[in-house]
Amino acid sequence: MNETEKREFQEELLRLRERVCQALARRVNETPQEVFDEADLGNTTLSMELEVSSRRQLTETLEMIEKALRRIEAGTYDTCEICRRKIPLERLRAIPYASLCVECQERQERAKK
Ligand SMILES: [Zn+2]
Repeated sequence: MNETEKREFQEELLRLRERVCQALARRVNETPQEVFDEADLGNTTLSMELEVSSRRQLTETLEMIEKALRRIEAGTYDTCEICRRKIPLERLRAIPYASLCVECQERQERAKK
């Protein structure tokens, strides 16, 4: 990943953080929603995802965005946290706050269930 790409992802993450913060602010006076089944990120856009997210999911997303921004600073943004392989750019374009490659992510989700 070169400096230009880094900056692009950084800007994208900052924009995303702004949107998540706004979505959170709108939900302050709402009763907690049912937690939606985690939609397949491949089939839906991130903005749609945000609209249907619960407060808990939004807070988690915000944390992941903050973490991704720190990972950009540290130069480990496109490195999978578990297996240390490169996360493909197209995955990061779809989910800019992903910190795991697809394989590790799937393994973790299976382990959670
Ligand atoms: Zn991995």
